[in-house]
Amino acid sequence: MTSYEAVIGLETHIQLNTKSKIFCSCKADSWGDPPNSNICPICTGQPGSLPTPNNAAIEKGILLAAAMNAEIQPISYFDRKNYFYPDLPKGYQISQYDLALAKGGYMDIPLQDGSTRRVRIQKLHIEEDAGKTIHKPGRRLLDFNRCGVPLVEMVTKPDLRSADEAALYISRLRQLLRWIGVSYADMEKGHLRIDANVSIREAGNQELNPKTEIKNVNSIEHIRDAINAEIQRQIKEMKEEHVIHSWTLDWNEDTQTLSKMRSKETEADYRYFREPDLLPIQVDKERKEEILTSLPELPLARKKRFQEKYDLPNYDADILTSGRSLSDYFESTAASYGGDPKQASNWLINHLLGLLNERGLSPEDLYLTPQYLADILSMIDEGSINTSTGKQLLTKVEDQQKPPRDIVEEEGLAQVSDSAAIQSICKEVIAENPSQADEYREGKGAVLGWFMGQVMQKTGGKADPQAVRAALRELLQE
Ligand code: ZN
Ligand code: MN
Repeated sequence: MTSYEAVIGLETHIQLNTKSKIFCSCKADSWGDPPNSNICPICTGQPGSLPTPNNAAIEKGILLAAAMNAEIQPISYFDRKNYFYPDLPKGYQISQYDLALAKGGYMDIPLQDGSTRRVRIQKLHIEEDAGKTIHKPGRRLLDFNRCGVPLVEMVTKPDLRSADEAALYISRLRQLLRWIGVSYADMEKGHLRIDANVSIREAGNQELNPKTEIKNVNSIEHIRDAINAEIQRQIKEMKEEHVIHSWTLDWNEDTQTLSKMRSKETEADYRYFREPDLLPIQVDKERKEEILTSLPELPLARKKRFQEKYDLPNYDADILTSGRSLSDYFESTAASYGGDPKQASNWLINHLLGLLNERGLSPEDLYLTPQYLADILSMIDEGSINTSTGKQLLTKVEDQQKPPRDIVEEEGLAQVSDSAAIQSICKEVIAENPSQADEYREGKGAVLGWFMGQVMQKTGGKADPQAVRAALRELLQE
């Protein structure tokens, strides 16, 4: 039986998170604003208006290109991409064509099986966004707020081999965009828009067959579903020896089906020419170096360093580097703590993430600083509090906005490890519960746990559990 492989390339439009639009001073982020409230003669293309480039947008584009290992070009040009559509009032989009901001580039994606997929970049340029057409029964409404919002368009080579790989690429890209701070990358808000080009071929062949383009999918899960459906459709067509047409397809999440939107346009339709109203973008060595000083250590490099420097398992390092501020928080905690970094990692992953989720906070919003978390861990190591008090302290510090050591003192949470005190409480509990004590002596070992619970209750959870267990064992033998 013939087996097939998918050949997938992704076209992404990334909305840069600048304050103002790319060629005028209108507010770029119109989320929640009334339609057509952030527009001016420039972004709506009124006669006589002239665009002025927003340096912040160009710099964010350069940061992204560098993070994608692309080569920043010393000179690049804006071009007009001409097409007619109601939500494009100028009649053209200012984009870049043959001489774009950056060349080449790639992103390495760690796959489930431990191998790496290198996804090469075909093209990367900056451009302005168009407006939005809102379809209502019997009418079309136009919102120009999005006209002129800065975008980076990035197209990969067809290097991805399955819907899962495509999904991994998108989630790594989203992580990177947030990490370097160029986009909020919220797919539901359209900050990261993905079209997928899909074709199939017999496994092992090198040829490229006609591809279809899936548009309008706004979550990673939906893209995975849509690509999988399209791969199955093409395999069926190929088995039946039908021709695969280069269609543009629309994914309907409710029915889980693809429908044909139109035949694909070709580039020639756009009649590109240089934008006469804008100067070329010049990025000399000095400017490039200055911009790149704000490029942080990237997620995969940091993950690798965490594994080596702190001897963390792959799983821990992956979670701790899922966001930049979380990874910073871990690193500061490990530095202040000075104990086993794996212990710090466990507390972050098992307890701190829960606290952040529950309260909808980011690590940098916490009153519980890395220093305070390190204090809690040190108090546990010193034996001055027990683990369950340590866990309670996380929320107490956050609720009371007080340092953990102050709370321990004020609320008398220090662990009772004085053996005489523990012995006498244990004796008391055993004397109060003779039948359970008999059960234990008859060989029902599980009763020990019940006794521990009673003692912990009497001490308000402050007793050293190891000391209690030892004392109970000894006293119950008698
Ligand atoms: Zn404007
Ligand atoms: Mn585009």
